[in-house]
Amino acid sequence: MAPVLILLGPPGAGKGTQARMLEEDFGLVQLSTGDLLRAAAEAGTGAGRKARAVMEAGQLVSDDIVLAILKDRMAAPDLAKGIILDGFPRTAGQAGALDGLLADAGQRVTAAISLEVDDEAMVARVSGRYTCAGCGEGYHESFKQPATAGVCDKCGGTAMKRRADDNAETVRDRLTAYHAQTAPLITYYDGKGVLARLDAMGPIADIRQALGAIVAGVSV
Ligand code: AMP
Repeated sequence: MAPVLILLGPPGAGKGTQARMLEEDFGLVQLSTGDLLRAAAEAGTGAGRKARAVMEAGQLVSDDIVLAILKDRMAAPDLAKGIILDGFPRTAGQAGALDGLLADAGQRVTAAISLEVDDEAMVARVSGRYTCAGCGEGYHESFKQPATAGVCDKCGGTAMKRRADDNAETVRDRLTAYHAQTAPLITYYDGKGVLARLDAMGPIADIRQALGAIVAGVSV
């Protein structure tokens, strides 16, 4: 059975960064509901317009909208090697819906990996981050600058962008939403016997290695 991995952790924990690395290392596909919602908002769909205001306020988008967008993406044919869910599920309702969706396909969650970090450090991490507009590679003003200022290491692009919700004030609201609605899922997946915890405060490369060891252990 192709692995279904979940990355849990507050904003700034490194879910997106590590998911992209797992794609490279294991051929899995990253499914980020945040990316899907931002794309819908940019495309100006009805759901996207509703989601935009909620995202900019640092709140969670309704389960209905998120599940519709995720189901659509999961129906695509490119997920055979397995998926890494990044930013989903974020509520008990979403976790239950995911279990149902997977059960219908004869699958289940392979592992939920909790990236454990310190809240205060997350405000600094999130406030300084930006991405290449061309390929999505992530950078940070203090922790990960491109080798040549303003030029993406990966694709050579020179347009960089920042998320509207990556500012200190909104990050605090997003952290509050995480602790109230998402952190309880750590207990939920622990109860199912699929939880792994990972200290994610260290260098990106160290976390990549530790996470890789966990994924290699559950994917065989
Ligand atoms: P992210 O890119 O994962 O940090 O998500 C950015 C924002 O998109 C969040 O702060 C929420 O407003 C929204 N969002 C992303 N994924 C979900 C989800 N699974 N459930 C509800 N809202 C979500």
